[in-house]
Amino acid sequence: MKAIRVHEFGPPDVMRLEEVPDLDAGAGQIVVRVRAAGVNPVDAYVRAGSYARKPSLPYTPGTDAAGEVESVGENVTLKVGTRVYVSGSLSGAYAEKALCREADAHELPSTLTFPQGAAINVPYATAYRALFQRAHAAAGEFVLVHGASGGVGVAALQIARAAGLRVCGTAGSLKGMELVLHEGAHYALDHGAADHFERVLALTGGRGVDIVLEMLANMNLGKDLKILAPGGRVVVIGSRGPAEIDPRDTMIRDAAILGMLLFNTPERDLKSIHCALFSGLENGVLRPVIGRELPLVQAPKAHEDILKSSAYGKIVLIP
Ligand code: NAP
Repeated sequence: MKAIRVHEFGPPDVMRLEEVPDLDAGAGQIVVRVRAAGVNPVDAYVRAGSYARKPSLPYTPGTDAAGEVESVGENVTLKVGTRVYVSGSLSGAYAEKALCREADAHELPSTLTFPQGAAINVPYATAYRALFQRAHAAAGEFVLVHGASGGVGVAALQIARAAGLRVCGTAGSLKGMELVLHEGAHYALDHGAADHFERVLALTGGRGVDIVLEMLANMNLGKDLKILAPGGRVVVIGSRGPAEIDPRDTMIRDAAILGMLLFNTPERDLKSIHCALFSGLENGVLRPVIGRELPLVQAPKAHEDILKSSAYGKIVLIP
């Protein structure tokens, strides 16, 4: 089988398509024939060697994929041929096949394509956890999805809108803002505009937002705190550096800054997340948006693009 391999941490071109030995499923494991693999920013941080968690070299990148179960080990209930999306792989997802724990494989509703399946795990699980398990969002609250044109943002818009929140999403391009409105936001703003914080405040009649899902905290956290309603919460999902805040902004609002890392999620919470996602995927409320499909060999280009601005849905790799 073919797989992308990384022999040293570094720039995108350290990823090369190579021939590797076939995979065997052990007890509690399955081998998935990968039809599409999801590309997430974290894959690029890990490959660059700048992420806190480093795999031992050589390795195959990727945690998200969709395909069919090709073979199963002992004590597995999933049947060969079942369409699944996976939330983690023992061997890496950027490959023709991926070895996974059965617990990390989830049935893919027949209405979704494999590229859409590959776009589920990190974006949707992150958005769901941020909204409900960290911010404890309630219907009727106002949420600002700060960076809503990418993978996590689109997922957050669809989930929040379906749950009865008032939703404002931001993007850095006109095309991105159109996507934001199309995917469920009541309002779209340009996060490149210096006055967009005041505009958000105006949308709430000056009261402030209940929740901010923040994709770039190093740029925005200090100002996010100033547009929060009393009892407001900011969930820090993404940050590419330090931020300066005035702690008094949290005191006067009884506000909270909540960090999160999907990889820290306890197994019990993950189970609940994927049950909720299945229901939304099955009834059509959750519809992963694919921005671009690239052949597996173009993994280096996918990593260059995922860190560029003007996001539009998800980038997936097709083996
Ligand atoms: P993505 O698809 O590349 O999207 C990035 C998003 O950030 C786009 O919507 C982009 O908008 C937006 N952005 C750019 N400049 C911004 C600004 N000044 N203010 C607000 N948003 C801005 O990435 P993703 O998969 O959605 O992930 C988003 C971030 O969350 C990344 O940093 C990622 O590493 C992180 N993340 C963290 C977790 C976790 O567990 N904590 C899980 C998943 C992702 P434009 O391109 O339209 O400007």
